[in-house]
Order: sequence, then structure tokens, then C-alpha cells
Amino acid sequence: MQVINSTPRPDAPRAETLKGLVLVIEDERAISDLLRMYLSREGFGVHVASDGVTGLSFARTLHPVAIILDVGLPGIDGTEVCRQLRAEGDWTPILFCTARDDEVDRVLGLELGADDYITKPFSPREVVARVKSVVRRSMRAAASEGPITMGKVELDPVTRRVTADSVPVALTATEFDLLAHLMANPSRVFSREQLLSEVWGYAAVVGTRTVDVHVAQVRSKLADCDVIRTVRGVGYAAEPPR
Ligand code: CA
Repeated sequence: MQVINSTPRPDAPRAETLKGLVLVIEDERAISDLLRMYLSREGFGVHVASDGVTGLSFARTLHPVAIILDVGLPGIDGTEVCRQLRAEGDWTPILFCTARDDEVDRVLGLELGADDYITKPFSPREVVARVKSVVRRSMRAAASEGPITMGKVELDPVTRRVTADSVPVALTATEFDLLAHLMANPSRVFSREQLLSEVWGYAAVVGTRTVDVHVAQVRSKLADCDVIRTVRGVGYAAEPPR
């Protein structure tokens, strides 16, 4: 699968579980480039939209783990993007970027359901810290620290070891992250687009076959102990065998 505009590479080694895809909706190229650089460095995948309409459509299709949303955008502005997503029941964490203090007042006054806001000029480090904080708050289950057991599979997020029927299973970093994400959210069905965003930090702009390939690999390694269920037309879930 070819991936546009996204980082990092699928099997790049990493110290901790990937942090997912962040959608940056910002029309100033210098700012979006800076955010991309800082967020990538922290292990986030980054996808950029430079106007409100494109941003809204990416938010709907790419299932980012967080959105950095500029208020002043061409076409529909940031407040309207936020309003539409919330109206659709989409509660992806949103961090507003405002150019002036009166914009902050406007954003707060509209009660748009934003998770945080930051005023320009901002330090990219500060933005990264805020993004981490909203993502951490929203992904409570995935942050589960102790070993997870499901059927005959045991997975330890700290040592990154997996056993099936007490036999160690050798998984690649990506296979481990995928299985850990599914097992940390038992029975929750994830679409392929969600898994690409949340596990790989990728935007599913071209295709999602990479998810199927990795699921198949994990399954073949777990063999008789497999806990991944295919939900036809939707995606995948982990649940104990019945
Ligand atoms: Ca702007």
C-alpha cells in the first residue's frame, strides 16, 4: 500500500506504542510544516489539510486520534468544522489554534466541544504536549499497563511479550501494536481506517490492505489460539473464542 503525506514507516522500531494519526487543519504552510516536524518526531503520523472543507472530509474518513484546528481557514472556518463534527457525533479530541485572544473568547463562547485551545504564536513543543495530553485522555483503554489475557493469549504491554497457550509468539513491532490495540479494547470493532490511524498513525488515503495483511500474519502466528474476529463489512475485533 502506498501512503501519502504520512509518517512514520510501518515497521520502524519504536520505544512505545505508536501514538496515532494527527490531522492538522491549518492554511499557513509554515505552521503546518513545523507541526508536522515536531509531531512526527514524537511518533505521531501527521496529515495536513489547508482548508475547512478538505479538513472536514479528512476528519470523517481518516479517523485521526486528534485534530489541530486553526480557527481562521479559507472556505468554512475552524469553528464550523468543529460544530459539524460534533453534530455528527464525532468526538475526536480537537485542539483549536487561535490567532488572537478575541478568537479564544469566540471559541469558548460558542461551546463547540473543543478539548483545548492554544494561541498563536505558539511553541511547537507546547502543541505537542497538549496533543499528547488530549490523546492520552481519550485513549484510556489502550494505555492499559498490565498484562492482558484473552482466551489462551497473554500479552504484556510492558515487556512486549506474547504467549499463546503458554508458548512465546514472535511478533514484529507492528504486529504487536495491532494485537495490543485490539486486545486492550475487548470486543470493540475497529474499522480498517481506525486501525491505520490509531496503530500505524497513517492516513487511509489510498487503501487499507496493509491492515488485512498484518491481521493475517498475527492470526497465522497465533494459530489455534487466534482471538481476532473479522466483522464483515466493518473491520476487526479481538474477543475470546466461544
Ligand atoms: Ca489561518
